Amino acid sequence: MDLGIKGKTAIVCAASKGLGRGCAEALAGAGVDLVINARSAGPLEQTAREIAEKYGVKVTAVAADISTEEGRAKVLAAMPNPDILVNNAGGPPPGMWHDWDREDFIKALDANMLAPIAMMKAVLPAMMDQGWGRVVNITSQSVKSPIAVLGLSNSARAGLTGYVGGTSRQVASKGVNINNLLPGIHATDRAVSLDQGVSAAQGISMEAAKAQRAATIPAGRYGTTEEFGAMCAFLCSEKAGFIVGQNILLDGGAVNATL
Ligand code: NAP
Repeated sequence: MDLGIKGKTAIVCAASKGLGRGCAEALAGAGVDLVINARSAGPLEQTAREIAEKYGVKVTAVAADISTEEGRAKVLAAMPNPDILVNNAGGPPPGMWHDWDREDFIKALDANMLAPIAMMKAVLPAMMDQGWGRVVNITSQSVKSPIAVLGLSNSARAGLTGYVGGTSRQVASKGVNINNLLPGIHATDRAVSLDQGVSAAQGISMEAAKAQRAATIPAGRYGTTEEFGAMCAFLCSEKAGFIVGQNILLDGGAVNATL
């Protein structure tokens, strides 16, 4: 399928690996020039080189912490008016409801709620002026079905989801579509660190921890970054103009709900 976005430009945040990289690769495959971001320069530059070589698009690497104002300014300076924005950042650590203090919440809110909101506020006006834009926010299945040990994530992402619910409907008439992608468990380093948490907490092997988590997914396996990226690229495509303010689960059926 021709996604109709060849020659467009995109910022993909937190994209040196994992789900962000999956989105960057799928957009590059559709012919989109990219600014990609992560904090560590080395792996990020390597990813940028690999994507540029594989897909023949322009890829600019901007090493910066997207949860900070300075980091976002650096990313936006490299591409002030992108056609497409994919918001992403690392997820907060697991823990227990009584462990978290104000500072822990502020950190989670900065990374997983306020950073994507700030990025949207920066790019939406130009998207609206040109009459075309796409924003995809990577959130989590925890928005629909809370994951108890990820209370910081549950809280911050619920806030972002509320903001997108209203904002997406305010900008849709200008040809700008904002949607959220809700990953269930995907085979990335983040999944490995959560497997390690289960392994340590229950005193079981990593293999057993992974098998235990995979057994909670009707598909019987973790998702792949390619599958995730393909859905992201579709939401960023010309074809997705009538999809507004949706929260799309990619979870292998893990959230047990009819709707
Ligand atoms: P990952 O494989 O650990 O990759 C995280 C990426 O984000 C890396 O490129 C990392 O590079 C970058 N990053 C982290 N913090 C950043 C920051 N403050 N500023 C800029 N870049 C940053 O993680 P993932 O599995 O792709 O997860 C992506 C998001 O989806 C996370 O928020 C995660 O909680 C959420 N999620 C993941 C899953 C899953 O199963 N994988 C499920 C539900 C939700 P640097 O470290 O160099 O910055």
